[in-house]
Amino acid sequence: MGKSAYFIRTFGCPVHCPWCDSAGTWHKDYVPKDIEKFNAIELADMAAEHSPDFVVVTGGEPAVHDLKELTAELHNRGLVVHLETSGAFEIKGQFDWVTLSPKELKMPLKENLRSADEIKIIVDRKDAIDYWVDKIGSLVKSDHIWLHPEWSQRSDPNIINSITKWVKKHGSPYRAGYQLHKIFKADSLDKRSRLTVPLGGNKELGY
Ligand code: SF4
Repeated sequence: MGKSAYFIRTFGCPVHCPWCDSAGTWHKDYVPKDIEKFNAIELADMAAEHSPDFVVVTGGEPAVHDLKELTAELHNRGLVVHLETSGAFEIKGQFDWVTLSPKELKMPLKENLRSADEIKIIVDRKDAIDYWVDKIGSLVKSDHIWLHPEWSQRSDPNIINSITKWVKKHGSPYRAGYQLHKIFKADSLDKRSRLTVPLGGNKELGY
């Protein structure tokens, strides 16, 4: 049986990857004028209403915020709490699972790499996997290393082939990944979602 996840997207990220399509890093031309804010209790209550198998705190970059109160409120309601982070900031809060997706513009902290339960490498050029294995491979302890094509390049055979070849050659702990929620429109079908906008300012690429 599948598992259900409830996502809490925190606002803001100082990293500014050029291909970022996260609504937490609004491009200056697309900053919404009306942002409804929720406190930790309200967020935890909303998550608990849906009885998810786990809650994912993501962003933007959630670790720029102090998440102790939010994770405590979620745990008080019996919820399992995951974090998605670039790993570049001290993690403040208690998490049951941490997914770390490193970014070149702000490298992850060593302690976060060592303690991450899962690594997600975004493959944005054909030598990206070699680059990341060289940079962080010796620090990572996790048995789960996902290789995801950067979304705007998901049809580029150079990117896809680099993932396929790596997984065929090295096997575990590497796994080929894909942002399936985008195909299933998990975000845009939610009535609380905002319309997709080119947050990086590139209307043709959509980010
Ligand atoms: S770290 Fe993540 S949220 Fe921040 S700019 Fe990069 S891709 Fe976007």
